[in-house]
Amino acid sequence: MTSVATKRMVQGGEFLITDANPNSIFTRDDLEEIQYQIASAIKEFFEKEVIPRAEEVESLNADTIRELMRKAGDVGVLGLEVPTAMGGYGQKKSTALLVGESHTKQSSFSGCIAVHTSVGMIPIVYFGTEAQRRQYLTKLLSGEWIAAYCLTEPHCGSDAMAIRTTATLSEDGKHYIINGSKMWITNAGFANLFNVAAKVDGKKFTMFIVEADTPGITLGAEEKKMGLTGSSTRPVFFDNVKVPIENILGEIGKGHHIAFNALNMGRMNIGSSSYAQLKRSISISVKYAKLRKAFGKTIADFGLIKHKLAEMAIKAYAVESMAFRTAGLIDDQLQSLDPDSSDYLARSMEVLREYAIESSIMKVYGSEAQGYGVDEALQIFGGNGYSKEYPAERDYRDARPSRIFEGTNEINRMLIVDMLIKRAMSGTLPIVSTGEQIIKDVYDTGPLPQIDPDQKDSSPFSKEKTLISNMKKASIMLLWQAAQKWMIALAEEQEVVAAISDCIMETYAAESTYLRTLKHIETKGEESSTYHITMMQVFLNDAVMRLEITARKTLAVIAEGAELGASLKSLQRLLQWQPINTVAARRQIADKIIDRESYPFD
Ligand SMILES: Cc1cc2nc3c(=O)[nH]c(=O)nc-3n(C[C@H](O)[C@H](O)[C@H](O)COP(=O)(O)OP(=O)(O)OC[C@H]3O[C@@H](n4cnc5c(N)ncnc54)[C@H](O)[C@@H]3O)c2cc1C
Repeated sequence: MTSVATKRMVQGGEFLITDANPNSIFTRDDLEEIQYQIASAIKEFFEKEVIPRAEEVESLNADTIRELMRKAGDVGVLGLEVPTAMGGYGQKKSTALLVGESHTKQSSFSGCIAVHTSVGMIPIVYFGTEAQRRQYLTKLLSGEWIAAYCLTEPHCGSDAMAIRTTATLSEDGKHYIINGSKMWITNAGFANLFNVAAKVDGKKFTMFIVEADTPGITLGAEEKKMGLTGSSTRPVFFDNVKVPIENILGEIGKGHHIAFNALNMGRMNIGSSSYAQLKRSISISVKYAKLRKAFGKTIADFGLIKHKLAEMAIKAYAVESMAFRTAGLIDDQLQSLDPDSSDYLARSMEVLREYAIESSIMKVYGSEAQGYGVDEALQIFGGNGYSKEYPAERDYRDARPSRIFEGTNEINRMLIVDMLIKRAMSGTLPIVSTGEQIIKDVYDTGPLPQIDPDQKDSSPFSKEKTLISNMKKASIMLLWQAAQKWMIALAEEQEVVAAISDCIMETYAAESTYLRTLKHIETKGEESSTYHITMMQVFLNDAVMRLEITARKTLAVIAEGAELGASLKSLQRLLQWQPINTVAARRQIADKIIDRESYPFD
């Protein structure tokens, strides 16, 4: 493995084969004052305008939601990431992450904004014609119009290419006639515009911009959802709907590129909102835990409650580290592009595609960490957690669909490995040669970096550094051995693929957390980094154990007998780690949370 000494353009998925340097990654501490100012203005909008009207939103008052969307347009939240040449604000991804943090108190309205700005607007921004942008973008940026995205159908969601909605050219060649049914369409109740996936002549997957008042469109009843009750989710029916040929998005037969690219952007957003939700779970539950008494103590004094509070914070720290690292990668590449060049949009889309592996990791790891947080927050509230009178109940329900939409977590787990293998096969990433070298080193008991239990290497956190490098090797070893065994049939071994994905995700999370901590120490000093260090060490301690268990189980699927024995021995050699006292460490973190009544930093 090579070592990166200076900041440079990093390829998507490269984290798995290259040991990065703390200064090569972006962290939350690198945010600039202007980014905080933008986020603060938008936070103020949420606090002053949205939160006081939460009940109206939750009862799906369309007039209120429309009015709030127009106000959201006025404060700039709808055009945050849209290029300035198109009337947007051209802000960085890292700014969008920071802004996303203010959304957690009203998940339904946030969902409305998220769909509108990602899958609603992205297809028009990146794939629309000049005329389409002129016609629709100004209205969407101002919030005068609300957008929705129609991909899922009653019989298919994950298997998006199986849609049955058809588009047939009219006899005069001026329109496409759309017929079909869509389901689970967010914003449907008040949308003015639908981006609709349909198959031209029943074969060619194509996206269309369809105005909501076009004759032939009808809406089904609101879904009776378990959460996000202030988000409109309805079926949309298309019965001989005439759409002008000018409203085709991109090219006929290439609509799946648009659909999947738009989803890819949404994945990154889910990942980022998840760490903000974890912080909210900490805030609401620590305040409750300090008031609630049992057995003569406040429940915040109990070790098991402290464990939950600390674990939420550790997960938030890890997900946030990954989120800003990934946003930094995207921002670095976007800033190297010339916004005036004719291929700016195409190249921007390539940048976003470049980090599709990291975006899928953010989506899966983030949404599952968020799931942990809302579940444990409810548990801290005890019986009251199960009552609608307390916030934990709604958070629990609202968070659940994050694991379902924008590609389910099962689909994204498959995608992570699939995308890595494609990059390996095309030679974009040297995973094959790295894998061969690792296998050689591991079996030859060659020059594998060993974790030095006596820490003879005096550089700070050298044990952690070696361990992360070896977590990468273990993940590649698994991927390599599975690919050798099943070749192209590996995709059929879904349990193995998902396990490899889990190892890769743990590795990205562990390295991002480690690098962020080291960067914090370098800039702020070790004394000011006590809690950063503790969180990193507990996360790493547990991540390596999770990885080891997953890898051991998976190796037993791939190999048997002497071959399995040799693989397990190699794994053990790679993942030597003396466990730390995580109880003491978590209590220390929890005490800080209890003292601040919130996440330890920010
Ligand atoms: C609140 C909410 C809002 C939504 N908003 C929108 C929207 O605005 N627009 C829109 O188009 N859609 C929307 N959706 C739909 C969402 O995108 C789909 O529910 C999702 O893609 C899953 O599809 P499905 O429900 O058909 O489940 P299925 O595809 O039937 O999946 C069912 C289960 O099988 C698993 N599965 C499926 N295929 C595989 C496979 N190959 N390997 C392993 N496991 C597999 C899935 O992971 C899942 O666990 C929304 C859904 C929800 C809950």
